[in-house]
Amino acid sequence: MLKRKLAIILPAYNEEEVINKTTQVLSELLQKMILNSQIASDSFIMYVDDGSADRTWELINELSDEYGHIKGLKFSHNFGHQNALIAGLTEVTGSDVDFAVTIDADLQDDPNAIIEMVELATNENKDIVYGVRNDRTSDTWFKRQTAGLFYKFMNWLGVKTIPNHADFRLVNQKVLGAFQEYTERDMFLRGIFPVIGFNSAEVFYARAEREAGETKYPLKKMLQFATSGITSFSVVPITLVRNVGLLISGISILMLIYIFIGSIMQQTQLGWPSLMVSIWFLGGIQLTAIGVIGEYIGKIFMEVKHRPRYIVAERRN
Ligand code: UDP
Ligand code: MG
Repeated sequence: MLKRKLAIILPAYNEEEVINKTTQVLSELLQKMILNSQIASDSFIMYVDDGSADRTWELINELSDEYGHIKGLKFSHNFGHQNALIAGLTEVTGSDVDFAVTIDADLQDDPNAIIEMVELATNENKDIVYGVRNDRTSDTWFKRQTAGLFYKFMNWLGVKTIPNHADFRLVNQKVLGAFQEYTERDMFLRGIFPVIGFNSAEVFYARAEREAGETKYPLKKMLQFATSGITSFSVVPITLVRNVGLLISGISILMLIYIFIGSIMQQTQLGWPSLMVSIWFLGGIQLTAIGVIGEYIGKIFMEVKHRPRYIVAERRN
């Protein structure tokens, strides 16, 4: 049987505390899969250092000096998780790699699920295999709730996403080729892959605690990520704002008629409170509407500039 070459791609941003452990776990896994003749012996692990400020890159260097199966890319500064994933995927597109798996560097996603992913891709010709968490008890209550709401909202907007799937997935060369056709700057990968289509499957795993170090996704980044996900895939928020605007205009016409009739009958008692309330209310709605539209215009601005998504400063192996 033809042995498939596997590349495991890991974005790493300030992960000095966990990278040695991660390398050890994944190397053992690769070794096991190679011994079982599941994958080719030149399969490898590739770290994409997203402009870390700590010793992450030094450690990647040490590891790649010591082991031939460790490769590394280093960004010139922090370009973000999604761009680090894109860089890794782009790097192996069109190469002799058969399957690329992306996984976080903190071992929160169960590496053993990779065995099943490769099995599905090899034996059942699946083009994409999504890792899906069926147990998120290790995440905080807040994170579970906000994530749940976010995916519900995306679904309501008509955006196809795989519930409880993050960026732990296997793709083959067919998918990698198609992926390169998506050239937008601000990418929301977990929305793109379901749109690419092809033959897909899911494998389930329990999400573990972070092995070491802290989350690189504080609330602010989570909100940015969610906003970018929504505005990349849907213009429904603009429609929504327009509808609210129309509704309020309708109401104000009714109010106008009411005031007009009232003044004819000389019974206008409409004083300061109602005036203030409507000014504040309308002002608020207007600002929100401008904000939503501005969000999209900002996005257009960023996209038309067509700047590089990332810049690779150094490479190893
Ligand atoms: N990450 C990255 N760039 C960033 C933030 C995060 O490459 O700007 C990487 C990080 O090193 C990790 C993965 O993305 O491998 C997921 O981040 P994290 O585990 O901190 O997120 P969480 O699991 O808490 O959502
Ligand atoms: Mg994590």
